[in-house]
Amino acid sequence: MKNSEISKRDMSVVWHPCTQMKDHEEFEIIPIQSGQGVYLTDFDGNSYIDAISSWWVNLFGHSNPYINTKIKEQLENLEHVILAGFTHEPIVRLSQRLVALAPQGLSRCFYADNGSSAVEVALKMSYHAHKNSGKAKSLFLSLSNSYHGETLGALAVGDVALYKETYAPLLIHCIQTPVPCNQSMEAALEALQSLEVILNLQGSEISAFIVEPLVQGAGGMKMYHPYYLTHAKQLCKEYNVHFIADEIMTGFGRTGTMFACEQAGITPDFLILSKGLTGGYLPLSVVMTTEEIYNTFYCDYDPKRSFLHSHSYTGNAIACAAANATLDIFETNACLENNTVLSAILVEELERFAGKTYVKEIRQCGMIGVIELIEQTSHERIGVKIHRHCLSNGVLIRPLGNVIYVMPPYVITPKELRRVFEVIDLALTWLDV
Ligand SMILES: *Cc1c(COP(=O)(O)O)cnc(C)c1O
Repeated sequence: MKNSEISKRDMSVVWHPCTQMKDHEEFEIIPIQSGQGVYLTDFDGNSYIDAISSWWVNLFGHSNPYINTKIKEQLENLEHVILAGFTHEPIVRLSQRLVALAPQGLSRCFYADNGSSAVEVALKMSYHAHKNSGKAKSLFLSLSNSYHGETLGALAVGDVALYKETYAPLLIHCIQTPVPCNQSMEAALEALQSLEVILNLQGSEISAFIVEPLVQGAGGMKMYHPYYLTHAKQLCKEYNVHFIADEIMTGFGRTGTMFACEQAGITPDFLILSKGLTGGYLPLSVVMTTEEIYNTFYCDYDPKRSFLHSHSYTGNAIACAAANATLDIFETNACLENNTVLSAILVEELERFAGKTYVKEIRQCGMIGVIELIEQTSHERIGVKIHRHCLSNGVLIRPLGNVIYVMPPYVITPKELRRVFEVIDLALTWLDV
């Protein structure tokens, strides 16, 4: 079988995510036959370094032998069971491990099967917990330029016009406070002042403040100082506003620590995890919360006080086995220490772009490296051009408009990582942006 044969069949039946399908009239979709470590290989035998971890999910490579084995073991016993009235060992073990790993005080795990659904869970739980405590608050606060997923509730708390604008009439009313405009302390202090003003005015109506800690992903890999989080959490507490940390992207070592919240020394009221949770294998997400929130729901049966939320595949056993295998790898391989070596290479490689006329800013946080290009005046989609150019040189990146970023699996070698930047450099030079 060849690429062209499969892509033709694909075009007749599959509708791809976040894609203008007509683009593929001109640029054939690429069918991947196999994945091995950081490499994806198509049916024509071309290989690509997966420098964006397949939409930020993959941590330890494709077809990781250890995770494969653990999933196969689980398959022999139990693939899935209803999680109401039943439980299974992988989910119990995973929950105990997450509680031990997460910031102190997050003692309860509620599962869903993707990031957006987990955001919905956290929003509903926050609202419901306040209601159970005697005062329903129906407003949500988020950061400007934030991204929390694509379902209606998640879109409503997001602030990326590209995804949100079309659906605006369908969304619940939410408000935004400015995100710190860069990684400096001054920017953090300035943004904290705005937050305080909003909380002062509307704190009594705000149920929760939801943030992407340290790095705003889909909003263009914007980064800010941990000090903002430390004090935002404190302010929220003063105004009885829940603090929701959406670590769907930042969790599991991406920012240099296991969770981004650690760098701010905070325990959020809700911690949302997904993406890296299963090492990039299977859809699974979890909302972790405190005993205090949990206890607002804990009472003799009263349908109004119970959290009657479920998904058919809540806590899937195979997904939990993949997550446990992923945590095993973290435990046995000193991944975070090893990543500091890769992060240093990221910093070094980014340097070659500093000062170039077409570069607006370079930035880095843990295992994320960013080259933001100066806004283009032409209507040409520069990100798409760079994406295609890099693909033809064996590197998969997927710029967010004029923001080029590298977010590799942790098993990438220094040599492969340097190759990624070499190809990006070539693309930028050849395209003469
Ligand atoms: C990806 C992402 C989501 C949405 O998760 P899905 O699994 O794609 O629904 C939410 N928040 C953040 C910060 C994300 O990066």
